[in-house]
Order: sequence, then C-alpha cells, then structure tokens
Amino acid sequence: MLIPLDNSYARLPEMFYARALPTPVAAPRLLALNVKLAAELGLDAQALASPEGMEALAGNRILAGSEPLALAYSGHQFGHFNPHMGDGRAILLGEIVTPAGKRRDIQLKGSGPTPYSRRGDGRAALGPVLREYIVSEAMQALGIPTTRTLAAVASGETVYREDVLPGAVLTRVASSHMRVGTFEYFASRGEKNMLRILADQAIARHDPDLTEAADKYEKLLERIVIRQARLIAQWLLVGFIHGVMNTDNMAISGETIDYGPCAFMEAYNPSTVFSFIDKQGRYAYANQPSIAVWNLTRLAECLMMLFEPEAEAPERANAALASFRPHFQEAYLNGLRRKIGLFEARENDADLASDLLERMAVNEADFTLTFRRLCTAAQDKTADAGVASLFEDPASFAGFSDSWRARLDSEGGDPAARANTMRKVNPAFIARNHRVEEAIQAALKDDLEPFHTLNRVLEKPFEDQPDFQDYMLPAHPDERVTQTFCGT
Ligand code: AMP
Ligand code: MG
Repeated sequence: MLIPLDNSYARLPEMFYARALPTPVAAPRLLALNVKLAAELGLDAQALASPEGMEALAGNRILAGSEPLALAYSGHQFGHFNPHMGDGRAILLGEIVTPAGKRRDIQLKGSGPTPYSRRGDGRAALGPVLREYIVSEAMQALGIPTTRTLAAVASGETVYREDVLPGAVLTRVASSHMRVGTFEYFASRGEKNMLRILADQAIARHDPDLTEAADKYEKLLERIVIRQARLIAQWLLVGFIHGVMNTDNMAISGETIDYGPCAFMEAYNPSTVFSFIDKQGRYAYANQPSIAVWNLTRLAECLMMLFEPEAEAPERANAALASFRPHFQEAYLNGLRRKIGLFEARENDADLASDLLERMAVNEADFTLTFRRLCTAAQDKTADAGVASLFEDPASFAGFSDSWRARLDSEGGDPAARANTMRKVNPAFIARNHRVEEAIQAALKDDLEPFHTLNRVLEKPFEDQPDFQDYMLPAHPDERVTQTFCGT
C-alpha cells in the first residue's frame, strides 16, 4: 500500500471536522520528494514518485483507507478572535504509524476548497509551497521541532493572488494538527464535553503517560507550555522569526507549524519584523516569548474549564502558565552559553551574552556569521578579526572579546574541542531569505536546480561545506529581502 492510513481523528465526533475530498488538479508534476523523510516514515519513495504516487500527492487519487478531512478550529489572529476558521486549504488524508511507532498526520496543503474555505480558493501558490519545503526541512536539520515536508507537486493550474501564479500542493507531515485554536473552537462554543474529548485526544497523542493522572488536564497544559517555552528559545537561538504567531498557528505538539511569512534574521536586531501584514510588530523577533505566553493564556482559559475543583481552576492555570518563564530562560540561557563556548554555568553568563548581543545590535552584525566565526576565535585569537569585521565598528567587538576570553581561560579545557562543540550549535548555514527567493524565482522558470542545491546545503547546517561558502553570506544590499508575505 502506498501510504497505509489509519484515522484516529476521523473517529472523533463530527464537530471536529468536515469531510472534504481533495479537488483534482489539471496536470500534476512532481517537483520534489523528500526521500529521507519517506524512509523515516516507512514509505516507499519510488512508489511515491511513480505516476500513481504523484497522483495521490496531488490529490487526484484518493488513497485506499483515506478518510479525508478538514479540521475545525478557531483562532486569535493578531489579537482578534475569529471563531470560524478551520482548514480552508488543507486536507488531512489520515495518519500513519512510522516504523519507530510514531503516529504522524499526512496532510495535503493547497488541495482545493473545503467547507471552511469561505472566499478562499483552497489552493496554494508554488512560491510559498517551496518556501515551506525549504524552511521546514532547514529547521529539522537545525534540530528544531517542526512539521515536515514530504513532497511538493506542481498543479499545472494557476492561482489568482495579486499576480497570476502557478499553483502547487504540499504534503505536510506533522505529529498532529491540534492547535491552540482547536481548543478555542470548542471552548468558545461552550462545548465542554467536546473540549474534554479533544484534550483526551491530545493526551493520547502527545502525552500518553498522563492518561491516568488525576490532574491530567493541568499537566497537559503545563506540558504544552514547556514545549512552547523550549521551542521559542530554539527559534531565538537561530534568529528565526515565525511571523504569524496567531493561536491557530501554534501547535500543541510543540512543533513549528504554518510557515508563512517566516524568515531568518540576518543583521541582529531584536525588533526585526519581516511580515508585510505585521504593521505593529506584534510578532517581532524579540516579542516571540511574550506572544507565546499570550497564546498559551488563551489555551489556559480553555483547558481551565476542565479543571476540578472549579474554584481552584484560575490559580492552577496560572501556575501552569508560570512554568513558561523559567523553562524559556533556562533553555535560552543554556543555549547562549553553548553558543559562546561556556560549558560551566556561572553567575554572570547572562550579562556576558547580553553584552555581545547588544554590541551586535548596535553594529548590525550578522547573527549567524558572528556566532559561527566565534567558534574559530574561541580556539585562535587571531580569528577575532574575522568576527570584528562583521561589526560596523570593529573595535566594538574587542570590548566583548577581552572579557569573553578571560572567562574561557578561567574555565580551561581544550580550545580545539571547545571550538568543535561550538560548531555543533552555531550553524554555518541558515535558510537566508535571498537564497530562498533565488530558489523560488528559478523554480518559477522551471529550473529546480537552485532549490535542490539549497536543500542539500541546509541539510548539514553545522558542517563547513567549503564548496558552498557563498551560501553562508548575508544578502548584498541589492538582494536583501525586507518584507515577506503570507502568499497564500
Ligand atoms: P494561515 O495564514 O495559513 O494561518 O491561514 C489562516 C486561515 O485562512 C486558515 O483557516 C486557512 O485555512 C485559511 N486560508 C488561507 N489561505 C486560504 C486559501 N487560499 N483558501 C482558503 N482558505 C485559506
Ligand atoms: Mg494557519
């Protein structure tokens, strides 16, 4: 069987979804198949790449055992509650259980309208599909929890946005598609029983060890809070900006989901915003932790309805939410420590790291390159020049490097080993916006070579890859991407 599907979500009450079949596309053409992911999932890549496989990935053929669904959810979009959302351009084909025993959703994105589409066409344009492919797989290679991309298929049809664009269908793989907004959907309708069924489904899927716990819904909330705290810390440590952290775009699995206007920051600036629609900078780089808490507070308001005794619910919800800060701080500070080569935790480490970050901000130093070059400087002081050259005022780096080096010396250890360990957390390669853009522009002209090359480079972000030095570099001023679009 091409994809042996099982459908636990389809066995939930009807209020959880709307049945919807993918709408066939005119002329499907396989653009990319993630062969490694297929293997992890226990799927036969060759069969998926066959005409029959491709038809399934395009939504032109319904897989045996599939019960295609569009999931219902609500969401706070830029702070405003929208009770009527749901998968408007995505269809869950079903779930598979991997050889490692993990249950994964298989979803088509851009596969045509569903009952939740409202005025949308249910389709996706080629650019955003390739963008999600590149960035989600880059996140995976960086070790950051994320939904995955199994395939991208050109539809042979056009979609009408601001321009007329070629369409495509993406196959997304996720450990689930339950979002904060899914809980809001039932809570806002006063459907306490449905909410309990959803929470139980979430526990079964992500936290099965809680099944028998007396206070399982509080524990579930706490788990989700902690997963998000760690996730957002990881985002910050690689300069990732999600761009549209609405509650419907926050997965309770703790995976990064819904790649829209996301981007990696180049010059370090905590207030960086790329998304064209984020006029107020609500989802700016440095706001991401507090926005996560805001979203999780919306989740707590839902899950609280299940807490007992009711009188203690607010207090308990607050206690679970309060675990965000310490877990975030710990993950972020430990991450920064590793980035600057500190193996021992000491009192002033946060100040030392902040000092570097502040100097980087003032001097518009490239976030990724600064940390990557710092690895060599940790081993060899003469490499300081390479780091300093990334700063507008190179002398500014010296102020940090003196105290940093004194701190490294006081810790001792083998400098070469330290540099190597640092290289495992400071990527040489991130999905730089101009490279993503270049890959998309070429693909629009039927040249997929830059897309495949970029994916290959991003598969090994922590290796030097001398043949691809240029991919390490920030955009030239004329290549710089300053705005990104949802581009749905
Ligand atoms: P997103 O920007 O991906 O978070 O999407 C927000 C909401 O709009 C979700 O409910 C989507 O399903 C819906 N949506 C986005 N684009 C389309 C489209 N082209 N057709 C139908 N619904 C869409
Ligand atoms: Mg979304």
